[in-house]
Amino acid sequence: MAFCQVIVDITHEDVDRVFTYRVPKGMELRPGMRVHVPFGRQKRIEGVVVDLVEQCDLPPERVKDVTDTLEDYPAILPALLELAKEIKATSFCTLAQALRLMIPAQMRGERISQRTREYAVLTVDPSVRVQVLAGQSRAPKRAAVLKLLMESEGGERSCEEIHRAIGDYRPALNMLVKMGFARIEKREMLRSPYGAMERLAAQDPQLTAQQKEVLDTLLPAVESGRGDFLLYGVTGSGKTEVFIRAVRHAAQLGKTAIVLVPEIALTPQMVMWFRSRFGEDAAVLHSRLSPGERYDEWRRIRRGDVRVVIGARSAIFAPLENVGLIIIDEEHEQSYIADNTPRYDARELARMRCKREGAALLLASATPSMRSFALAGRGDLTLLEMPRRVKNRPLPAVHVIDMRQELAQGNRSVFSGALLDGLKRCLDAGKQAILFVNRRGYSTFVSCRSCGYTVTCSQCDVSMTYHSTENVLRCHYCGQETRVPTVCPECESKYIKYFGTGTQRVEEEVKRFFPGVPVLRMDNDTTRQKDAHEHLIAQFRRGEARVLVGTQMIAKGLDFPNVTMVGIIAADAMLKLPDYRSAERTFQLLTQVAGRAGRADTPGEVFLQTYDPEHFAIQTASRQDYRAFYEAEMFRRKRALYPPYTLIARLLYEADREQDAQSCAESAMRQMEAFFERRAYLKKYVVSLRVMPCPVKRIKGKSRWQVALKIVDKSVCQEAVGKMSEIATAPLENCACVCQVNPGSMM
Ligand code: ADP
Ligand code: ZN
Ligand code: ZN
Repeated sequence: MAFCQVIVDITHEDVDRVFTYRVPKGMELRPGMRVHVPFGRQKRIEGVVVDLVEQCDLPPERVKDVTDTLEDYPAILPALLELAKEIKATSFCTLAQALRLMIPAQMRGERISQRTREYAVLTVDPSVRVQVLAGQSRAPKRAAVLKLLMESEGGERSCEEIHRAIGDYRPALNMLVKMGFARIEKREMLRSPYGAMERLAAQDPQLTAQQKEVLDTLLPAVESGRGDFLLYGVTGSGKTEVFIRAVRHAAQLGKTAIVLVPEIALTPQMVMWFRSRFGEDAAVLHSRLSPGERYDEWRRIRRGDVRVVIGARSAIFAPLENVGLIIIDEEHEQSYIADNTPRYDARELARMRCKREGAALLLASATPSMRSFALAGRGDLTLLEMPRRVKNRPLPAVHVIDMRQELAQGNRSVFSGALLDGLKRCLDAGKQAILFVNRRGYSTFVSCRSCGYTVTCSQCDVSMTYHSTENVLRCHYCGQETRVPTVCPECESKYIKYFGTGTQRVEEEVKRFFPGVPVLRMDNDTTRQKDAHEHLIAQFRRGEARVLVGTQMIAKGLDFPNVTMVGIIAADAMLKLPDYRSAERTFQLLTQVAGRAGRADTPGEVFLQTYDPEHFAIQTASRQDYRAFYEAEMFRRKRALYPPYTLIARLLYEADREQDAQSCAESAMRQMEAFFERRAYLKKYVVSLRVMPCPVKRIKGKSRWQVALKIVDKSVCQEAVGKMSEIATAPLENCACVCQVNPGSMM
């Protein structure tokens, strides 16, 4: 008798354990296969087989049979089953939740539409065909089908084609099957998201000395399946070519590779470009795929048809076997962290996969995260460097402009004199320019100059943002809109105006100073429609506009050879955010944006406007001196006890009534205090533990309270974070709770 242990696809923690089922005779099961099983009062529910066992301690009448299998192969590979267990252990979710990450959403609940095509295949020997045909003369349809098949290559045709040639063929074909002359086969059809995309047979460029050096270290590691690397290469140093060669090396060894990039960098250029080098061997997973396409790409990967998978965060779960290399580009990006349950950091999961499956790990960035660079300093990651641009192109010259002086000299425009001159020079030379507007933390808001009143959202306790096209104020948290007041509702003054600089304002100013020069704007408003993002990029690349005005979304990975000038309208906007990473974010963003200039043969120029020119993040970014920034920032973090020296964890409570959020938070606080009372060995590492209202007290009408813990980053301290996660899962009345670790924002 054989039994199997099944995790049922219910995410409730009460059922977060294996259930034993009997395997019916003749059913072949392997771990990782998906099955239907009866469960409780439900007749049929999906589950995943995690183990097969010979014995079962339960009385036989209490053990039910597996109903059937969903696929005839394990949908979840053994290595990914193990990864799911690890996610359960480290992010405190149920195994069912972790397993859901491993398969495309539409595979659950039988919502997949696997597309199959039917083929009719001759089953008779060629020599008997003529006789067979002769005997069919009284049934002309049957004869026609038979003749068509005989004349077809390999003696087969798709039923679709037979239908097109003969019309109503089915009864005739069925008869032929019955007579043993043919059979009908179902074959899986995969949708291709690439359509008729042209395949450029791209040539390999000759490697630079730097690229060669890096590959000399990297390739042996791919071969041995061991090694964790951090590639620190300045913008334009040619990191992508390193990725391509390393991936190809893995493929030549019969291994596979995963390349993770930030979602926003997965432009059609990027996709096309990988396809041009790897053709059908590459699968691409991104958010623009339809559910059907996503499933089909997954199938192609699972069947072993591809050698490399390129994708955003969740591509870390790609069902590749024999992984030899995982690359994470722009590894400093916050988007590698999934914030909702199950919470995971794709970089950590990549490390786990590499270790278990014997693969090399390559993190890469022009501005590595504090954490990764610190790990490299300790020797936990091997540092690889590419300090120079390809062809020794110079890094762009950066001019720092003090906007306070501009104001003192009577310039009230959003552009400094120097930036305007630079833009004029660039346009006169026939080149293109990018103007970057940092949207976060510095959006346009309406404020009274007499009394300081600002229009805030009634639901969210944040100021509302002005949108000039619709002439409305909108809340960026909940979308609520309101009209722009003409007199101050507080003091009735007429001096109520909008402040700050948005992309629209900058676009208008460019048009005012340079009439007739075509300008494109790329922000949340202009990219709402599907493909709008790609469209704008392609337009700019074709030179249909001379100036591109945009937000964060233009900072990453774009390579426009004709751009020689970059203007940064307000470099310090983000420094004001209440987030310990604001300096790091500012430095990263400024370096990435500046890196867009001068990528081809004409040197680039960057104009960086700021109200805080002495700030070390601005200073080091203007010199593009990552190491100097790193040293200063690490010193500051150590002094202020911020990550990576500490861990910050918080329990966030949200409720309709403030007193509910508050009392839940206070009760959690008492539990945490009691927890530490019992653990002297942990208590000494606690830097702070506080309960308080969140900085943004309300969002979407919900009141918000938090319990915030700061604790030294030691592995024993994970226990405290575990306790917080446990508290977060306890059911509450009238209140929701999440546990966040080093959250992207403490708002
Ligand atoms: P990074 O990602 O490091 O910022 P890229 O990989 O985008 O840099 O490379 C910058 C530019 O240099 C690209 O246009 C790329 O095609 C080109 N490039 C990279 N390697 C070489 C090489 N070995 N020879 C010539 N051009 C190269
Ligand atoms: Zn007022
Ligand atoms: Zn709101």
